[in-house]
Amino acid sequence: MADVDLLISGGEPGDVAVDDGRIVAVGAELGLSAAETIDATGLRVLPGAVDAHVHFNDPGRADWEGWASGSAAAAAGGTTTVVEMPLNAHPPTVDADAFRRKLAAAEAASVIDFALWGGLVPGNVPRLAELAELGVAGFKAFMCPSGIDDFEAADDETLRAGMAEAARLGLPVAVHAESAEITAGLTARATGRGWRDYLASRPVEAELEAIARALALADETGCALHVVHVSSGRGVRLVAEARARGVDVTCETCPHYLVLGEDDLERLGAVAKCAPPLRARADRDDLRAQLDAGAVDLLASDHSPAPASMKQGDDAFAVWGGISGCQSLLALALTAGVPTELVSERPASRLRLPGKGRLEPGADADLALVDATAELELRAGELLYRHRHSPYVGMRLRGRVTATFLRGRRVVPGEPRGRLVRPMPPR
Ligand SMILES: [Zn+2]
Repeated sequence: MADVDLLISGGEPGDVAVDDGRIVAVGAELGLSAAETIDATGLRVLPGAVDAHVHFNDPGRADWEGWASGSAAAAAGGTTTVVEMPLNAHPPTVDADAFRRKLAAAEAASVIDFALWGGLVPGNVPRLAELAELGVAGFKAFMCPSGIDDFEAADDETLRAGMAEAARLGLPVAVHAESAEITAGLTARATGRGWRDYLASRPVEAELEAIARALALADETGCALHVVHVSSGRGVRLVAEARARGVDVTCETCPHYLVLGEDDLERLGAVAKCAPPLRARADRDDLRAQLDAGAVDLLASDHSPAPASMKQGDDAFAVWGGISGCQSLLALALTAGVPTELVSERPASRLRLPGKGRLEPGADADLALVDATAELELRAGELLYRHRHSPYVGMRLRGRVTATFLRGRRVVPGEPRGRLVRPMPPR
């Protein structure tokens, strides 16, 4: 009878012993016998990535992605938990019935574990308690139109009431922070329909105005606030200043704001369209400096897929926005030299996901084996997305994931073992 189920030996930072789906020991020469041993010499053994921001659009728009392909793509890139957004699925996850439908779709097809964001939209504040009861990780609100008719932007009163209720429930509110007034006004006054016109319609100032407003409401209500996909160093600075004066706030950025910019949008077109948009060099450098200073809490993909047909056309305003990238999250973190805690421990602890994001005894044995020295050009054919486009295609990325384990077993596409991860109660 072996001591443990699985021993991953010889990797960095040491041998990892796994039993009954959990890590039981990490270190050099553990002296344990195992039913199965995997040689990881020359590889890094990392906690599986926790991607705090993906859209899999299932149920309702599974033809855009879906749980099967989305989770398989994430797993191929070393991600073992995704936190999935309430919109782009239909119905959007704004009440108990919609949550149950989302959960059923995920359980039927996801090869990795998942947590679910609920939605905060006008009219559903009385539904937040039932969503909390069912296990949402928090509530996502848009401060500008989401682009999806069935997921309305939260006006300030909805945001304020929603934050007060979320605070009572002990869950965070995540905001897409761009001013609806500024972006709508600039869009209406745009004189052209090209990429530069689109960029000009969503300036950094629109982001700053919305972040400041969300911070004021979080301060007033005592709500835990998370600002998703901050695109500028100035935005991060607003968050850091608020945190310094005691507001419970964190922020994320995405790989695309670090490794791509305005010139890439002009070069690549629709495949690189997102909101907030890619930024000018000075803002990217400033964002990077803020990240290096420790002011960015986490890195998430904001994987936002769509059929290629929706990513075609010359009208920069009309073409669908959203970047496909969940398969490359960990590799992009390694490529950009972002500490890997920002895609594992940090999101797991901010969202209080038990057992996730840590390489330590007691944690779930969610692991990515990575050849961190490999540097390979990303090819469209390797992508497991339903629609194989991404602005990262053609880029040289560091880190090749050789195996991904979920709770001690290798993840196999088409073998759905994913479970809902419910947040721990607040301390
Ligand atoms: Zn998103």
